[in-house]
Amino acid sequence: MALDHAKGRLAAMPDPYSPPPAPLPGGGHAIAVDVEEVSAKVRLEPGTGEATATAEVRFTVGSLGGRPALDLRQGLDGSGQGSSGLDSLRLDGRPLAPSAWAPADLGGGPGAQMRVLDVELPAGGRHRLEVGYPLAQPSAQGALPIDWRGRDGVRWDLWMSDLHPGRYLEMWVPAPLCHDRFALRVDVELVSTDRPHVVVTNGRAEPTGSGWAVHFPYRFTSLSPMLVVAPADEVEQRQTEITLAGRPAPLALRSTRHLDVDVDLEACEADVASWLVSLAQRYGPWVHGDAMTVFVWGPGRGMEYDGATTAAEGALEHEVFHSWFGRGVKPACAGDGWIDEAWTSWATSTRRSEEPRYGAEPLDLDGEPVVLRPPHPWARFTPGASYTAGARLFSGLAHLLGGAPQLRSAMAAWYRANAGGLVSTDGLESHLRAWSGVDIGPWWQRYVHGQG
Ligand SMILES: [Zn+2]
Repeated sequence: MALDHAKGRLAAMPDPYSPPPAPLPGGGHAIAVDVEEVSAKVRLEPGTGEATATAEVRFTVGSLGGRPALDLRQGLDGSGQGSSGLDSLRLDGRPLAPSAWAPADLGGGPGAQMRVLDVELPAGGRHRLEVGYPLAQPSAQGALPIDWRGRDGVRWDLWMSDLHPGRYLEMWVPAPLCHDRFALRVDVELVSTDRPHVVVTNGRAEPTGSGWAVHFPYRFTSLSPMLVVAPADEVEQRQTEITLAGRPAPLALRSTRHLDVDVDLEACEADVASWLVSLAQRYGPWVHGDAMTVFVWGPGRGMEYDGATTAAEGALEHEVFHSWFGRGVKPACAGDGWIDEAWTSWATSTRRSEEPRYGAEPLDLDGEPVVLRPPHPWARFTPGASYTAGARLFSGLAHLLGGAPQLRSAMAAWYRANAGGLVSTDGLESHLRAWSGVDIGPWWQRYVHGQG
């Protein structure tokens, strides 16, 4: 459970993407803390259909003291409100009443509440929060329950989403907002079953006898980890190696499908391999280590992770593209998530697009203003208009910049300058202006910030 040493060097730097303190109704302020490490143990018992978890979060309070805001979408009623629903709670080894870490509205909009610790912490200290809780269907829009497979099997997928608040790691394990990088370890223990299972992940999984210890690197944020557990007799798995531009060592491409999903996994693998090769050539280096992990799911599923996806066959191209835009450069905060959905919709043949890809159509400044970048610093969703109005904006930008090839080159330069890092709406605007010499400000104001 070694902590990446980079965190120690970065811990002293203020985080430019951390949201400001939010006033609480009863007085005081909720603050975003700097999470260094999250370690969770998840216990799955197919025989009873019950699951429990314990988690430990190590964090530092920044230059402003206050009440730490993190999130966990377990133990809550359907509305995401109510009491804390936790079995146990400790801060720095001292027991607290579980009700001392309950959801609070910080102004981020419907569903965006965070759990705020009812303890005032001074600036600068390091702390350890320990939590125990029953694990069930997360209280967040669109979240799915653990899928028990008879009395001896389980299918569990983190199944994240950008579209609704609370749909990242915090569904299952305590986590900060998505600007914060931290080392993550998830131990999965399978109880009272001899049926072999597999774990499919973009982390490093070590067998433990009763399950796995899965380690995710420090560069990950709450939207990065992919983790699926499934009975081994319910999946097909393949592995091949491919060569990518700018990468001396081959990249492992690991593909899995549920046997009840009727697709040709070898054909999916070939498609993914060709997209990976062309994306590395066109946009720049692969930043996700030694493997790409693909889990082909039934209709309706499509989610990107760092160098990984769980997706229906028709969504694979879109989700693989996100390993460059969305997870190769990650949104600096949830409000910046529109960029990768708009750009991916413009640049791929996804079924979600209304227009063919690579559009370059004039976009007048008299259209209806659109908010793609939610302004509140504690907002936590990507507007659905990102896929449509956002893709249309990129078509207009392509026209302004002289054509689709020019826009692709501009975005490749932006990717290369930020590969592996966090990117913001303001940063992209500055880059496109500087790269092209075109004042895109009026389009940005109207079709990103919704100002008429
Ligand atoms: Zn997407």
